[in-house]
Amino acid sequence: SSVFAALEQAPEDPILGVTVAYNKDPSPVKVNLGVGAYRTEEGKPLVLNVVRRAEQMLINNPSRVKEYLPITGLAEFNKLSAKLIFGADSPAIQENRVATVQCLSGTGSLRVGGEFLARHYHERTIYIPQPTWGNHPKVFTLSGLNVRSYRYYDPATCSLHFEGLLEDLGSAPSGSIVLLHACAHNPTGVDPTIEQWEQIRQLMRSKSLLPFFDSAYQGFASGSLDKDAQSVRMFVADGGELLMAQSYAKNMGLYGERVGALSIVCKSADVAVRVESQLKLVIRPMYSNPPLHGASIVATILRDSEMFNEWTLELKAMADRIINMRQQLFNALKSRGTPGDWSHIIKQIGMFTFTGLNSEQVAFMRQEYHIYMTSDGRISMAGLSMRTVPHLADAIHAAVT
Ligand code: PLP
Repeated sequence: SSVFAALEQAPEDPILGVTVAYNKDPSPVKVNLGVGAYRTEEGKPLVLNVVRRAEQMLINNPSRVKEYLPITGLAEFNKLSAKLIFGADSPAIQENRVATVQCLSGTGSLRVGGEFLARHYHERTIYIPQPTWGNHPKVFTLSGLNVRSYRYYDPATCSLHFEGLLEDLGSAPSGSIVLLHACAHNPTGVDPTIEQWEQIRQLMRSKSLLPFFDSAYQGFASGSLDKDAQSVRMFVADGGELLMAQSYAKNMGLYGERVGALSIVCKSADVAVRVESQLKLVIRPMYSNPPLHGASIVATILRDSEMFNEWTLELKAMADRIINMRQQLFNALKSRGTPGDWSHIIKQIGMFTFTGLNSEQVAFMRQEYHIYMTSDGRISMAGLSMRTVPHLADAIHAAVT
């Protein structure tokens, strides 16, 4: 018999498992609102036109080869990525205080950053928001950090639990690491206001809490790359240190290409050089060096002002479609007279709406309406269309009445 005969069947991933169940459902009216990937109005995955152009240019370049990248990835990609998130005129970049390494999308950037901190930072505890993206606790635990949480969301008001957040970060041991979603908080769609960010910044700096930003949705939340980076730039502007995990999965639609970057903003250029040298020691035994194709696409687009422009327009179109879906769903519930205050649907930001539906209501909607979402009641607005909004509104109406 197999040496693995005693192995237990592992549970499906709580997020990716939704798609597994969806794929098994033969119903013609089924809708997948589980996965965090953009869909067109026709329900199809989207490859941006500017990405197709960049790929054509890469293919047509006869001098292109398939050599390994350095451990730290494509140097030009790293420079352009730091510029994109911190701003072209960022003092940290001009003073060469930023160490950037290309990583395997957002997840890989978090994982490398987590392991670097576990090896070299004096405080091993990272505080993550309650709730947060389901992978965060696992990524940081396996990085070697202790994971604790801080209050973030108040289900009673479907909004930020700001007093709870300040209280919990205020009582965290000085020096602790704090994970912050740069914008479009997943799963709640609730972000602090600029004034609240400023209070968070002051509190964190006064207690020497180390910010670790997760930026998976730059440009996707508001449609503006600069606006969605405002929180991060406030923390860079004060001269303090921080970590930044960037993903191009959503904002450039490069999901499966696994392209992202980890940047560590340091106090001085010589520290940044040493930080980079240690990041290489984290990466080399993990996967040696990152993949070439996705980073080449990103560099091709970011280095060329005309292509960059085209990207921002396509990005804004995706963000606008999602914002429109929020309005459509809100209107559909209003017109059905569905009990409850659904204004959080239009107030929340980014790819997801945290509906407030409980796990029984979610199960009911799957059973009776073939609508698939995570059990916490999170729906991906990017998976909705004008055609499916009425069906979803009927299902929510039936679930709450
Ligand atoms: N962080 C958050 C908050 C996310 O929502 C996601 C994706 O859903 C990621 C990180 C990482 O995604 P990826 O590894 O595909 O870039």
